[in-house]
Amino acid sequence: MVQDRIIDGMHYEGNCIRPPSEANSILLQVTLGCSHNKCTFCGTYKDKRFAIKNNDIILNDILFASKYMRGQDRAFLMDGDALIIPQQRLMWILDRIREHLPWVKRVGAYANTKGINMKTPEELKELREKGLGILFMGVETGDDEVRIRIRKGSNANHCTEMGRKIKDAGIKLSVTVLLGIAGAERSIEHAKATGELLSKMDPDYIGALTVMVIPGTPLWEEFKNGEFKLPDELGLLKELREMIQHTNITRGLFFSNHASNYLPVKARLPRGKQDALNLIDSALKGEIALKPEWMRAL
Ligand code: SF4
Repeated sequence: MVQDRIIDGMHYEGNCIRPPSEANSILLQVTLGCSHNKCTFCGTYKDKRFAIKNNDIILNDILFASKYMRGQDRAFLMDGDALIIPQQRLMWILDRIREHLPWVKRVGAYANTKGINMKTPEELKELREKGLGILFMGVETGDDEVRIRIRKGSNANHCTEMGRKIKDAGIKLSVTVLLGIAGAERSIEHAKATGELLSKMDPDYIGALTVMVIPGTPLWEEFKNGEFKLPDELGLLKELREMIQHTNITRGLFFSNHASNYLPVKARLPRGKQDALNLIDSALKGEIALKPEWMRAL
């Protein structure tokens, strides 16, 4: 009986993250970690083995939210790639959200190419009909050489196809790309290839973050050995400029206002492209101050 359950708070384990736009969402941790967990720059889930939480724990969290989170009309499924949950279980979770949190208007989750690949187009549509309204995908780069180096687990073509599959199912697609991930020497190739990938994928939202080298990750080792060198501040700005220049989407938001970035840019594409490029050009000429190092954060 639902009424007999002891609901004593939300059950969170380890490091939990969510996209900045989900800050006010009900955060339901339905999986632990990331099923891929191999990207060389990512230290987020190094403390966890991937697992799907049991239904009792998930239901308790939903019931807790039904009592105490009545003012929040979005929900976000953590951790790293909740889309990988087998279809029937994921449908069950979305059904319980609808049943106990009827005021929730949109459910979001992270997704990687593996999780998307495992769903048929029909299954994605079923999930959308049950409230899954947005998926967040880490694209990082469109440059295959870099994708191999960072162990992203798929090539640019497959990544593009998986993004298109989400959009074709009528689910909003928000992606992140990583400034600096190609190092100084492949910066411009990475920027062009990423812009080209984004143009083919045509996501609704694009967030450009600057890579932060995290101690304990394989990228940290490459950084310490001198195998990986970040572009300097101006190099990162040129990379951002090149990326925006090559990004031709039908309609969407491109933003680089994450705390990790030196220059906040927010452009509604395609209309705002030239203004964004002009802003970056002004920063390159030293007419706009960049964010000081101490203000940058993950
Ligand atoms: S797929 Fe995402 S969460 Fe998983 S290791 Fe890569 S960056 Fe980290």
